[in-house]
Amino acid sequence: MPELLNARVEACYLQAEEFFKRPFQRPQVCFKLRGQKAGVAHLHENKLRFNPQLYRENQEHFLKQTVAHEVAHLVAHQLFGSKIQPHGEEWQLIMRGVYELPPDRCHTYAIHRRQVSRFIYLCSCPEGEFPFSAQRHALVAKGRRYFCRRCRATLKFSGEHRAV
Ligand SMILES: [Zn+2]
Ligand SMILES: [Zn+2]
Repeated sequence: MPELLNARVEACYLQAEEFFKRPFQRPQVCFKLRGQKAGVAHLHENKLRFNPQLYRENQEHFLKQTVAHEVAHLVAHQLFGSKIQPHGEEWQLIMRGVYELPPDRCHTYAIHRRQVSRFIYLCSCPEGEFPFSAQRHALVAKGRRYFCRRCRATLKFSGEHRAV
């Protein structure tokens, strides 16, 4: 999976080198980003982190736009230092001038956050709290009983319902 992405990072660097007629130090690239961000550029460590899930779901646009967006941060940092705004005119110049891409700040990928509902069950223990899955909650509705191993009370639905 990362080969295409690595190749795109390299291509972005070659374009920047051609444009600015100077070499740029290559970053460390890793694929361990989770959550809502597609990519993060660590300016001082010269490091890029990409989100593998968003990459899989939006590969074409991700390669084109997100990779260039993050590389442009590192290139801007190497060119102009740390006093510039992250998405300021220097970064925008690189996006438009070098990559001929719109200087979009944020990706617009749909975030598939798995919303899991938990049904909170209680026993007689003071701190006894049991988050049940929807499936298990449905089994209780059908007459299934669960017990606390400590106090042996039947677990009862508290009425509370949490998204985790
Ligand atoms: Zn950015
Ligand atoms: Zn208990």
